[in-house]
Amino acid sequence: MKLADVSYKTIIENLHDGLYFVDRNRVITYWNKAAEQISGFAADEVVGRSCSDNILTHVDGSGRSLCFGMCPLAQSITDGKFREAEVYMHHKDGHRIPVSVRVSVLRDKEGRIIGGIELFTDISNQKANALRLQELEKLALLDNLTQLANRHYIERELLSRFEEKKRFQMPFGVLFMDIDQFKQFNDSYGHDAGDEVLRFVAKTFLANSRPFDLYGRWGGEEFLAIIRNISPQDLEQLGNRLRLLVEQSYITYGGERLQVTISLGATLVQDDDNVESLLKRADTLMYRSKAAGRNCLTMG
Ligand code: GH3
Ligand code: MG
Ligand code: MG
Repeated sequence: MKLADVSYKTIIENLHDGLYFVDRNRVITYWNKAAEQISGFAADEVVGRSCSDNILTHVDGSGRSLCFGMCPLAQSITDGKFREAEVYMHHKDGHRIPVSVRVSVLRDKEGRIIGGIELFTDISNQKANALRLQELEKLALLDNLTQLANRHYIERELLSRFEEKKRFQMPFGVLFMDIDQFKQFNDSYGHDAGDEVLRFVAKTFLANSRPFDLYGRWGGEEFLAIIRNISPQDLEQLGNRLRLLVEQSYITYGGERLQVTISLGATLVQDDDNVESLLKRADTLMYRSKAAGRNCLTMG
């Protein structure tokens, strides 16, 4: 398949990653939409200017400027090699944003280097999450196997949510989730395969969580999610989406595809609830899903 040049242009223009081209003198010749969004600089503000000209002025983790000597783009233009780095880019508003950059060179038909390309991804969320995890680890609030909140953390969080409900009438719901026939799974494929499953189930939850929700491992193959400010319909929909995502995930183990399903109990906090009554109801609802044949959700 040979794409028309205009198709390449559309693809490049609409990438989620920032992308720019420079010539051999590091003068910017192209700047895509995502680059505008991430950096705050519009294409017409940067095209034609040198990237060290007080625009991007990347610095490394210790604040050293990379514009002179250490610039990955300049290095690649010199030696033709591909490079990856994590740097801090200057935003038009003044602050610095962590980005991961991938640099390669542009060549003409004869293979001569005529410039460089830099693709960059905003990793500020990733950085914030990594720091958060480090803090939680220090406080012994994380489950070692899955890196989700541990039972102690879930209990603490539930108390805060009850407090929030009392003060601000903020509703919240919980999902009680249990892997189906997991004993049998362990018996058939071994404990290590089981551990791997627990990790991918946890990742499915995390990948779909909003910043103000909490997913935790309650114990064994049981998980609890605390979902803030949600309606019964949305809680049910979220629970079912997680259920389907887990059902459609698998690990490859000894050449075989191994899958599991989960059963869920979903409920919203009620006025006369306490931690115990809320969890008891969620657990009972989950067991109704088991009795109904597993891989389903019961709302109550
Ligand atoms: P059900 O569908 O009714 O939930 O059946 P089940 O087999 O999942 O339930 P049961 O409570 O009988 O068994 C839970 C199993 O989970 C027992 C244990 O082997 C497994 N399990 C608990 N914690 C871990 C763990 O950390 N790693 C692994 N690999 N397995 C675990
Ligand atoms: Mg269980
Ligand atoms: Mg189970």
